[in-house]
Amino acid sequence: MTSPEFGRFFLPGPTEVHPDVLHAMTRPMIAHRGQDMVDLLKGVEPGLQRLFRTGERVLIGTCAATGFMEMAVRSGVRHRALSLVGGAFGERFAGIVAATGRHVVRLDVPLGCTVEPDMLRDALKHTSVDAVTMVHSETATGALAPLEDLATVVREFDDVLLLVDTVTSLAGSPVATDEWQLDFVFTGAQKALALPPGLAFATASARMLERAATVPERGAYFDAIAYEKAAANYQPTNTPAISLLYALDVQLRRIDEDGGASARWDRHDAMRQCVEGWVEGRGGELGYSYLPAAGRRSWTISCLNVPEGMSGRTIAKAMRQQGWVIGSGYGKLKTETVRIGHMGDHTVEQVSELLACLESVTQ
Ligand SMILES: *Cc1c(COP(=O)(O)O)cnc(C)c1O
Repeated sequence: MTSPEFGRFFLPGPTEVHPDVLHAMTRPMIAHRGQDMVDLLKGVEPGLQRLFRTGERVLIGTCAATGFMEMAVRSGVRHRALSLVGGAFGERFAGIVAATGRHVVRLDVPLGCTVEPDMLRDALKHTSVDAVTMVHSETATGALAPLEDLATVVREFDDVLLLVDTVTSLAGSPVATDEWQLDFVFTGAQKALALPPGLAFATASARMLERAATVPERGAYFDAIAYEKAAANYQPTNTPAISLLYALDVQLRRIDEDGGASARWDRHDAMRQCVEGWVEGRGGELGYSYLPAAGRRSWTISCLNVPEGMSGRTIAKAMRQQGWVIGSGYGKLKTETVRIGHMGDHTVEQVSELLACLESVTQ
């Protein structure tokens, strides 16, 4: 099948990449230990700091976001973590805690739900842990956790770090790393940042770095302290994916030209509201409903229960035949839901067109 027209690729990752960004990757190579690399890394720092809302350094890795999830655990969890699980990515975070030889205590909520502040406070009172792992926007269910309030709860407890997966929230909805006092925040390139896959970004608080220094089993390739030291000198830890850094540089400029992080958040909020309006009207009449409750819906992914008797996979296939790409459900929700990844460089107009097509394939 041929590629869909630009503006019609609504997979919840990887997302569509603008041609100017793709084109940037054709530039010739530079030495990864030379002045050109220093200039490139210096150049991208302010734009990344604005997206993370942080004054700390932003660590850049050549890996999938899951690599930095492992960094979060290896450098941030001493013995025991409380892992909040409401879907496949929360599950993955908990799995990494166990896989790296730490003890994991799970706090599970049903698919589509989020852990609420009182539940978290209760769990932390009853179990002694040194870190909390959580996913802000759970891509498998479209649920958005109340991160700011959860962070306030974590701060009530001494010596507990908050490690946050913001893979589908950062650059698509507000994340205020410093103001909310988050200890480790990481994301990937191929979601709301609308870059090709292969880069991960993170920021570590002073508390996180102090903790890392006390953890001997941090590993080597994903050691947060090694990353921090390299970043302090605008150096990569190892040979990075240089072409992807060119793409990042161009995309950060495009984001600034479009009004920066807050304009980007507003556009994503408007796309979310566009889907909500549709579900309240025509979409609801056809039998679509939201999996997550109002107020807990991701700004970047709408996860909808499909009309009775229909399958998410069949709907996604029918959309593909019309030239539109959306996600079917993830994991256990494969057939019951569809997921619209309205993130990155998409617009409200494109979302409206997509919904009109969804109507036509559902009749
Ligand atoms: C996509 C995604 C990941 C994993 O990203 P990779 O780059 O494939 O490792 C982790 N968490 C969330 C919430 C995601 O959406």
